[in-house]
Amino acid sequence: MAQLSKRKYNVSKKEGENIFPIIDGHNDTLLRLDGPPEGEGRDFFVQSERGHLDLPRAQQGGLAAGFFAIFTPAPAQAQITRENLIITEAGYEVRPYPAIDPIYAQQHVMKIASRLFQLESRSQGQVKVVRTVAELQRCLDTGVLAAILHFEGAEAIGLDLDALEVFYQAGLRSLGIVWSRPNAFGHGVPFKFPHSPDTGPGLTVAGQNLVRACNRLGIMLDLTHINEQGFFDVARLSDAPLVVTHSAAYALCPSTRNLTDAQLAAIKASAGIVGLNFEVANMREDAYLDPNTPLSVMIRHIDYLVEHLGIDGVGFGSDFDGDIIVSQELGDVAGLPKLIAALRDHGYDAASLRKLTSENWLRVLGKTWRLP
Ligand SMILES: [Zn+2]
Repeated sequence: MAQLSKRKYNVSKKEGENIFPIIDGHNDTLLRLDGPPEGEGRDFFVQSERGHLDLPRAQQGGLAAGFFAIFTPAPAQAQITRENLIITEAGYEVRPYPAIDPIYAQQHVMKIASRLFQLESRSQGQVKVVRTVAELQRCLDTGVLAAILHFEGAEAIGLDLDALEVFYQAGLRSLGIVWSRPNAFGHGVPFKFPHSPDTGPGLTVAGQNLVRACNRLGIMLDLTHINEQGFFDVARLSDAPLVVTHSAAYALCPSTRNLTDAQLAAIKASAGIVGLNFEVANMREDAYLDPNTPLSVMIRHIDYLVEHLGIDGVGFGSDFDGDIIVSQELGDVAGLPKLIAALRDHGYDAASLRKLTSENWLRVLGKTWRLP
């Protein structure tokens, strides 16, 4: 383990630059800590050149809290999307992913969740798995990195929902009903550009029960990757603000993964939030996987989301370490202050930047989690 020191958010503070503690809506870092073929065998406590997020770089970038996702790849699915990518005349599509076995998913979730808890105990107080807003706020105040346990896809939760109760007690506070494939609860969008997110049927009866159970327990529902009908089923059923942790605006980049104006209107009506996904192909209007994409493309999406959701409805949801191409101007989590500086130069004042970086996530979690 590298030498650990308690550092606050002033590491990369330049003269006159405001550094805000940042809550980020999505990372896949836990999976990268695996050895090959799925992961890179990285040590979270050692600064790496690879991937996007480890503790030293998080501290440099002012990352105060993140949703740490557990995604379950299909057994033979080493890479999430690249191998299955087909370039079409107008854009791209990715071969659809089949449903995965729930027992396999549960074993995988246990393994990766255990890794998060071990990481917390090895961190000498520098990483905390948070279960309440008060714990999250304390982490923001003290410079401890807060980890919110998130499942990206509900495969590991059986139809009886018994496992949901157990995972909740263990610390699960955020759940994506689907990843981009079908499961017993609903249907995720296949990756396609240009293509509408209206790609199939909505929630199953089990999916409707899952929404009610998450509302009752106070587990945040993440609507990233769900198709349009599933999205509006949740909008009708859920009593919590609608949340999409890592997505972008369909009007600027018409991929199945992005949100139409009608979806943005529903999120705004619920006082919900969208975290901007940093995948360049999911923001560029040509959907190219080009790291040479300027930060201005990210700012266009933030402007658009703010225009449609209000300044209270937008945050970050990087998708760091999620097999994505990030603008090389940003690079990795240590580059977050560059994005904030670009937003400030673009006209966002300190109060707005505080909302975008942490206050909006705090407000939504405060309304969603049952524990204060
Ligand atoms: Zn995702």
